[in-house]
Amino acid sequence: MSDVKKMGVIGAGQMGGGIAQIAAVAGIDVVVFDAHAPALEKCTKTHQKLLARAVEKGRMEQSDCDAALARITYSPKWDDLANVDWAIEAVVEDATVKAEIFSKLATTLTNPNAVLATNTSSISITQIAAAADVAKPGTSSRVIGMHFFFPVPVMKLVEIIKGLQTDDAVVARTAALAERMGKTPLTANDRAGFVSNRVLMPMLNEAFYALMEGVAEPEAIDGIMKLGCNFPMGPLRLADFIGLDTCAHIMDVLAEGLNADRYRPCPLLRQLVAAGRLGNKTGHGVFDYTT
Ligand code: NAD
Repeated sequence: MSDVKKMGVIGAGQMGGGIAQIAAVAGIDVVVFDAHAPALEKCTKTHQKLLARAVEKGRMEQSDCDAALARITYSPKWDDLANVDWAIEAVVEDATVKAEIFSKLATTLTNPNAVLATNTSSISITQIAAAADVAKPGTSSRVIGMHFFFPVPVMKLVEIIKGLQTDDAVVARTAALAERMGKTPLTANDRAGFVSNRVLMPMLNEAFYALMEGVAEPEAIDGIMKLGCNFPMGPLRLADFIGLDTCAHIMDVLAEGLNADRYRPCPLLRQLVAAGRLGNKTGHGVFDYTT
């Protein structure tokens, strides 16, 4: 059983928000940090809305909902992360930004056993850990990939990725925490995209090529894959849900990490990102979510 008492979540977006929510429901105190104040406000409202809905639907008692919300604090102050015993980073999928955050975490966290986890979809854990080690030598043994899936409260998997220097005990503690949060942990090795996105992203990218080349309309591409492969959701809608910017970042990491241009994002995907059509989170991606 995991004994984590206080978790710091860095990044209050769709993933960080979901992770904070299930941690609080599991009885863990959570501080959510984000560099952008509007993200913290949106995250607060989303927690209130989703937990209230769980009560309405009879999936949770009102007292548990109130207790979970009371466990979460939202902070724009980095130093509020200092006394957490578990940090999980869920900011933009950019290796430079993540390296900066891990370097700061290494010197900020005061508990010498605190775990520094990343929810990266594709970036090398060993590379992220190296940044922490430069800031504070020895920290890399406590850096690990803890990869949740969207929407976090619903999806069962946590893909655990051990970096080259991650301690085995940290892997075991991560699996125990995932189980405490109601998830099933499965481990993968530290290669770009791990298992999930190495297999998923080429399929999503191919759906964008099919759309760009006029093979079918978006609804038909998704409908064919849903009905033909028994997927719960078509690849274009799934990409919208993940975030088109996140998909493009992951594909670039795969192309670099696996040294193969075939993983590069389809030009249409890049164009949608350039236009600010990032998917569900901005109201518009391939599909429109504003109505
Ligand atoms: P998002 O765009 O919804 O949220 C990112 C958040 O990070 C934003 O609130 C932003 O304000 C904040 N942020 C950016 N730079 C920051 C910084 N320097 N310091 C503090 N906060 C900062 O993205 P998301 O979908 O939540 O993805 C976050 C991470 O989770 C990425 O690494 C992504 O690859 C990974 N991930 C995403 C999914 C998915 O389906 N979207 C699934 C698994 C993992």
